[in-house]
Amino acid sequence: MAEKAEGLILRVTDFSESSRIVVWFTREFGRISTLAKGGRRLKGPFESALDLLAQCQIVFLRKSSSTLDLLTEARLVGRFRPPEKELSCLYAGYYLAELLLNLTEDYDPHPGLYESARLALTDFANSAKLPLAVLRWEWRVLDEIGQRPELEVCVGCGALLTEDRVFGVWISQGGLICAECQREDQQRLLVHGGTAKVLRTLAAEDDQAWRELSPTIQQLKEMRAMTTAIVSHAMGKRPTMLAYLK
Ligand SMILES: [Zn+2]
Repeated sequence: MAEKAEGLILRVTDFSESSRIVVWFTREFGRISTLAKGGRRLKGPFESALDLLAQCQIVFLRKSSSTLDLLTEARLVGRFRPPEKELSCLYAGYYLAELLLNLTEDYDPHPGLYESARLALTDFANSAKLPLAVLRWEWRVLDEIGQRPELEVCVGCGALLTEDRVFGVWISQGGLICAECQREDQQRLLVHGGTAKVLRTLAAEDDQAWRELSPTIQQLKEMRAMTTAIVSHAMGKRPTMLAYLK
C-alpha cells in the first residue's frame, strides 16, 4: 500500500552499490525504515534529497513487518543548515537524531514530537542560546514519551519545590526529593528550587516562554547534569553525542 508522509532523515546507510537504507521520523507514522533503490545515484529518483536531517515529503510502499518499506518518492522541503563554523550546532542536530532513533518506536506516531523536532532544528541552526535549546529539545522528548520527571512537588512527601531549598534528583522515581525524604544511600545529584522553576518553563508545551529564560551558570549546570542522568536512564545508556556537546 502506498503511503504519503512528511519526515526528517535520522540515518542514511549504504545498502548496495546503488541503494541506501533511510530511517525517517515522520509526522504521520513515527519512525520508519525504508529502502531507497537508486538512492546512491546523484541523478537517481531522489536527486540529492537524502541528507541527514533533511525534511522531505515522501511516498513509500508499506511492507510486511519482516522487510523494509520501499521508498518511491522523496521531495526535499528543507535541509538542516547549521552555521559552518559552529560544530556544536551540527552535533546538536546529530543528538536530536540519536534521541529519536533510540527513544521512539517504529509506527508509533507522535505528531507533537515531530513539530518539536522541526522547531529544535531551526533553533539549532541559529547558535544563540544553544545549550538552552538542546535542553528544551530533551524535555520535549521526555514529555512526549511519558518520561518527564515531576517538577512541582517532592516525589517523597508532596511538599512544594520552593525556590529557597535544595532537592535531590531521584531518577527511578521520576522527580526531585526534599532533604527530609532523602536517604543516606541515594546519589547526590542536587538541584536548587530555582532551577526546578526554570525547568518547568523549559519543559512546558508553550514554545515561546522558554525563549525568555536567562538561567544562571549554576542553573544551567544543574539542568545539564539532571537532564543527562534522566535521558541516559530512559535510553539505558549515555547518549553518544552528548560528549560532543560541551
Ligand atoms: Zn519530601
